[in-house]
Amino acid sequence: MDNAEFEAIAEAVRAFVDREVIPREEEIEETDSVPDFLREEAKKMGLFGYALPEAYGGLGFTMLEEVRLAFEVGRTSPAFRSLFGTNNGIAGQTIANYGTEEQKRRYLPELASGAAIGCFALTEAEAGSDPSGMRTRARRDGDDYLINGTKRFITNAELATVFVVFARTDPDAQGTKGISAFLVDAGTPGLTIGPHDKKMGQQGAWTSELFLDDVRVPATALIGGEEETGFRAAMKSLAKGRLTIGSLCVGMAERIVEEMTAYAIDNRQGGTPIGDFQLVQALLAESETEARAGRAMALEAARAYDAGADMRQGPACTKLFCSQMVNKVADRGVQVLGGMGYMRTVPIERFYRDARLYRIYEGTDEIQKLVIARQMLAAQRAKVAA
Ligand SMILES: Cc1cc2nc3c(=O)[nH]c(=O)nc-3n(C[C@H](O)[C@H](O)[C@H](O)COP(=O)(O)OP(=O)(O)OC[C@H]3O[C@@H](n4cnc5c(N)ncnc54)[C@H](O)[C@@H]3O)c2cc1C
Repeated sequence: MDNAEFEAIAEAVRAFVDREVIPREEEIEETDSVPDFLREEAKKMGLFGYALPEAYGGLGFTMLEEVRLAFEVGRTSPAFRSLFGTNNGIAGQTIANYGTEEQKRRYLPELASGAAIGCFALTEAEAGSDPSGMRTRARRDGDDYLINGTKRFITNAELATVFVVFARTDPDAQGTKGISAFLVDAGTPGLTIGPHDKKMGQQGAWTSELFLDDVRVPATALIGGEEETGFRAAMKSLAKGRLTIGSLCVGMAERIVEEMTAYAIDNRQGGTPIGDFQLVQALLAESETEARAGRAMALEAARAYDAGADMRQGPACTKLFCSQMVNKVADRGVQVLGGMGYMRTVPIERFYRDARLYRIYEGTDEIQKLVIARQMLAAQRAKVAA
């Protein structure tokens, strides 16, 4: 894709978000679902496969292009992006980067068109930040595997047509060794999806429990065609997701800054627009400054990612900084609006709740810190040893 093509898509997505999604945010919140019309339009714009390879029907965006797109879709209800987040993100990437040729041909074109929905089923009650506690088992049975276990918080599980399911294939292996990934089609006997969870925010983006009771899949469902490959692949692909989440946070922060600035001009106390009070100006200025820092950081991390110079530390730093940043900006947004900021139906109140998730999923703040510090220490050790 050349630059002009990308700019046209970015512009179209921005206009679509402004014209069609933002006016429906309250409906998404109230109904806890995204209108079908938005889903169909997202399909037409190619959003279900922007990060998937062109050879399999996707748009093949670079990381820099993905980040730019995330700035745009981040400006509205996260549920809109969640529709196509798992197809482009961790589920789709794991298949695209490490699936066998047969797996790629079977799943990617439908994921890219939006005809199929993929989801990523890793988390369990005692395997969230650290998958080594995973209890789900996959036992070889002739040419098949039998999978048993329970997953939780799985985004898009209720809508999914294919599940990337992680299970321990070697019960004797320690830590994260002996974990493999399988492609399990919806409707496979023994696979049940619970009702979607009631969450603090991000209404319209659904998560559910997944129950696997003697789910039989052929050995060809093993991602990458061999044990452990799929799990290693998923861990590598996670880094990419961190940069995307950080960029979504930038988009949300910029939207909050727009909302708080408009409010500060339009609302008065004692006859004075509240934006004329210097302490309110400080809230605006700090928020603008931090949103800009987040944008610059995400763009720089994306360039380094595309160059292959840093595919781990930059994404972790971006997610850590930007997810904390947007929570601070949302908090200031509520403050600028005063009592109105605490009222349902005000976008900033909704973003305040929506933003909190960004510090938790795809690696908590604490896990990002561990990733970043380990990279720092490894680099220093290598320097000393050289
Ligand atoms: C809305 C939502 C959507 C999600 N979507 C998906 C999905 O699609 N697929 C999927 O597989 N999962 C999904 N998740 C799960 C998500 O990735 C996990 O919730 C997250 O990784 C944290 O794991 P946990 O909930 O088990 O918390 P825990 O890992 O139990 O963490 C609890 C606390 O302990 C801290 N902690 C844990 N380990 C360490 C450590 N070693 N050092 C320091 N502190 C530590 C954490 O930072 C946190 O503060 C989703 C979660 C939510 C809420």
